[in-house]
Amino acid sequence: MPLTRDAIEAALRTVEDPDLHKDLVTLGMVKKIEPDGDRVDLVVELTTPACPMKDRIRGDIEAAVKAKAAELGAVEPEVVVEFTADVRRPNEKIRDQGSPLPNVRQIIAVGAGKGGVGKSTVSTLLAVGLARLGAKVGLLDADIYGPSVPTMLGLTDLATAAEGNMLVPFEVHGVKTMTIGKLVDPDKPLIWRGPMAHGAFKQLATQTDWGELDYLVIDLPPGTGDVALTMAQLLPLTGAVVVCTPQRVAQDDARRAVRMFSQLGIELLGVVENMSFFVGDDGKEYDLFGRGGAEVMAQTMGVPFLGSIPITSSLREHCDAGTPLANWEGENSMGEQIDDLCRSVASRISIASMQGRYVQPTLSVS
Ligand code: ADP
Repeated sequence: MPLTRDAIEAALRTVEDPDLHKDLVTLGMVKKIEPDGDRVDLVVELTTPACPMKDRIRGDIEAAVKAKAAELGAVEPEVVVEFTADVRRPNEKIRDQGSPLPNVRQIIAVGAGKGGVGKSTVSTLLAVGLARLGAKVGLLDADIYGPSVPTMLGLTDLATAAEGNMLVPFEVHGVKTMTIGKLVDPDKPLIWRGPMAHGAFKQLATQTDWGELDYLVIDLPPGTGDVALTMAQLLPLTGAVVVCTPQRVAQDDARRAVRMFSQLGIELLGVVENMSFFVGDDGKEYDLFGRGGAEVMAQTMGVPFLGSIPITSSLREHCDAGTPLANWEGENSMGEQIDDLCRSVASRISIASMQGRYVQPTLSVS
């Protein structure tokens, strides 16, 4: 006797999503159960195409369905699991509160305590990496004082376009992007008073025709200034990522960035350690800045640690050349490490949204 649909569903009620700690049926992730003789076809919808737990979930499903068959004395079926993905909104409140970006599902800010630690590099890698893993991604270069995206994504020779009063984002390397760097003279200093910074951010964020996005990654200016405040008041953020290098002085600044986000009521998705160690051309690893320092800082602040990226000359070269996809090419590429980082950020985003921890930030100045 083969397993019935109900018996299979009962088996799936015992399988938990390892991140979300609820069973797949309760989470609404089981989209199809099709028993056919000694074969069972299942479609399971994940909360992100960058899910790091796919293999584990597949294994748990197979084990649960086979255990159910044994329990009922049914034929042990072949279990075929197909995964789809639907990035969900943080929670329904966002739609109700009228987000200025209703077609963007998850908005993530990338910040740093100070400049030069690799915030734009990590923003770029996250955006391009999530897109490679199958998501629809936008990258908003909100570093209005020193935009790096024109160089890092190779936008120099592309013309800026607008339709009506909306900017058309550049579509490169699988992502949509907009930057102040393509709207102003690249050689002029960018000096913004508070209200102008507010206006520039608002325009870039809300007057760009992003279309439907799973993730919008926002590369913030370094430090704890005007743009972060405007962003927090204007957009329903899912959370923020703080980039930090391992040295003590960098950690001190990153702590301030972490506190700024929590003061703004923005969920801290976690800390990324950039320039963790140096990899020479010989493949040997050199511990330049005190590898692991940012991880310890994250632990002491009770914030998740998302992963680390080493210093390599190839990463710097691909940033300068505006060829981010080259980071996934070649024998010793960093592709696997970047994918791991993207998966870990996507997983934190899914957890934050499922827990519905999003609150519209309220700001009190004392
Ligand atoms: P930030 O946005 O924090 O000011 P950037 O991302 O612009 O910093 O990085 C500063 C410089 O350091 C850039 O030239 C970038 O290519 C380089 N860089 C950043 N991270 C790495 C890394 N892990 N390995 C090599 N070069 C890096």
